[in-house]
Amino acid sequence: MAGRPQVAKTVTALRREVARWRAARETVALVPTMGALHEGHLSLVRLARRRADRVIVSIFVNPAQFAPSEDFSTYPRTFATDVAMLAEEAADLVWAPANVSVMYPDGFATRIVPEGPALAGLEDAFRPDFFKGVATVVAKLFIQAAPDVAVFGEKDYQQLRVVTRMARDLDLPLKVIGAPTVREPDGLAMSSRNVYLTPDERAVAPTLHRVLSLCAKKIAEGRPIDTILAEGREAIERAGFVLDYLEARHAETLMPVGSIKDGPLRLLVAAKLGKTRLIDNVAV
Ligand code: AMP
Repeated sequence: MAGRPQVAKTVTALRREVARWRAARETVALVPTMGALHEGHLSLVRLARRRADRVIVSIFVNPAQFAPSEDFSTYPRTFATDVAMLAEEAADLVWAPANVSVMYPDGFATRIVPEGPALAGLEDAFRPDFFKGVATVVAKLFIQAAPDVAVFGEKDYQQLRVVTRMARDLDLPLKVIGAPTVREPDGLAMSSRNVYLTPDERAVAPTLHRVLSLCAKKIAEGRPIDTILAEGREAIERAGFVLDYLEARHAETLMPVGSIKDGPLRLLVAAKLGKTRLIDNVAV
């Protein structure tokens, strides 16, 4: 087993360590997470390892991206296990703010508000404050850790596009890298929230990816997008989900698309199974 990563609990401690690496001309990668780590997160850490000399993994359950009705207080928190998993991956440093006020000090009054086509609809239609919370915390993480690269999962595809756009718009001197979605053997995208699923729901959950993949295949064959998505929506609801959206978008701009010729395309879905909200996406 590799040595345990250091844990920084204050911005000062984080910056002290990064400054030491910088003095030795080492490059730095950042992997932002909310903890409750699984193989999906670890795949990002492995990618980060290949891209930089040093790897920082941040673990912070960010209250700013949860609506009052959402699961902030019950979100799984497994810090000791997370650190042990990161030791196995030879992460160098865990950036775990000691408490919420390290990130949001008293009187905190500044937010990053993403706009534009990448934000129109999809998650933003159902979680209107989500991307403001994400963009604000990610901008802070980028400024705190000053990495050369930051790795995000395609699992949260709209988030990846919003963060990529933000880094470019704000001239942040780093490269945002997307990593493919890691799945369970039955196709369910790994997620910290999958632990909420009852055994019956867990058995139904892979339907989401199955339907997505089938829709992507049919659209790639040239069948009309509207018809295929209507069939897909019906199949998802028939399986017992309450659907938020199933849409085809341009893979980079996330603009709505009418036909395969408007591509490259991405299919994105969000649906609730009981109390658990699942999201997924695939390339066409
Ligand atoms: P979270 O802890 O859910 O905020 O996720 C932290 C990072 O891990 C985000 O960039 C996610 O997109 C990424 N991630 C979460 N689940 C997966 C997965 N199944 N495969 C790849 N990346 C993932």
